[in-house]
Amino acid sequence: MKQQTEHLQVLKDQFGRKHDYLRISLIEKCNLRCKYCMPEEGIPLTPSKFLMNAEEIESLTRTFVGLGVKKIRLTGGEPLLRKDFEDILSRLSQFEVDLSITTNGILADRFLPVFKKHGLKKVNFSLDTLKEERFKEITRRSGYQKTLDNLDLFIREGFEVKLNIVLMKGLNDDEVVDFVRFTKDLPISARFIEFMPFDGNKWDRSKMVSEQEVLAEVGAAFGSENLVSLPDEQNLTARKFQIKGFLGDFGVISSVTNPFCGTCNRIRLTANGKIKNCLFSNRETDLLTALRAGEDVENLILESIFHKKAVRAGMDNLEKLSDPDLHSDNRSMIAIGG
Ligand code: SAM
Repeated sequence: MKQQTEHLQVLKDQFGRKHDYLRISLIEKCNLRCKYCMPEEGIPLTPSKFLMNAEEIESLTRTFVGLGVKKIRLTGGEPLLRKDFEDILSRLSQFEVDLSITTNGILADRFLPVFKKHGLKKVNFSLDTLKEERFKEITRRSGYQKTLDNLDLFIREGFEVKLNIVLMKGLNDDEVVDFVRFTKDLPISARFIEFMPFDGNKWDRSKMVSEQEVLAEVGAAFGSENLVSLPDEQNLTARKFQIKGFLGDFGVISSVTNPFCGTCNRIRLTANGKIKNCLFSNRETDLLTALRAGEDVENLILESIFHKKAVRAGMDNLEKLSDPDLHSDNRSMIAIGG
């Protein structure tokens, strides 16, 4: 029986944007070491007693759902490394929300029955290359074939599958056309993500592949007359396109060159229970400590969302985004939860 909650409050910020999409990071650890995500030297991990346990995740989720959250994505770190993953998913499945997960896919087959049992039908796989050797170079680990096999398995099992591809110049930018071709016979949505700056990931504007560049390359390869623009979704993060006659589609998440802040409805909860009102913000509100102290969490959430900045935590142009002083205090992506 799903739990219905009265929405007495709505999570609106000072610009009137309604927030109903929560991304919960379950863990900081990952079984890969992607160059663009995790610094080479790793990150200092939060001791486990300061991470949310399953009961606390459920409790905070109940508060968010009471405030109107309708969509929840589980992420990390690698969320499937969480030993109590099934317990968490089972607790979250009681809420009337649209559940999804972002994973590198390596452990996904083991969890397929668990996903089915608890109604999780939407899975985003992260895979930045279709070449095995390059997979090792990017992730500093092996697991390419397993990821591909699991991607295939989830498609065959009828899951709604998206593919996340972070593009970086000189690393995998020569695979744009291959990835689009990959959507020819597969019912998947491939999403090219512009490389974003986070602590320790050596971001530099020249390594980024922009939306414009992706579209130019795809147009040249397939003919611009075959490149169809699909209707925008509500609270979109990626403009979507399709090559005429292809089963799947593709999009570009252009958080750097053309951010979707105007319709942003996202809230992030880190594995140690801190709320971030923007991926790029270094300001966090500690919900877990408040919850453990029996304090009012709801007001902390309302306040944090209300103060969200109009564009990318105040970094409203590329110059500010490129200024290391402005985003240096932000966490690595691995510790935020992408
Ligand atoms: N481990 C899971 C996975 O690999 O999907 C979930 C966590 S991962 C941090 C979530 C997403 O963030 C991935 O799709 C990853 O590609 C993306 N990501 C990480 N660092 C990024 C960066 N610097 N720029 C753009 N996307 C990034």
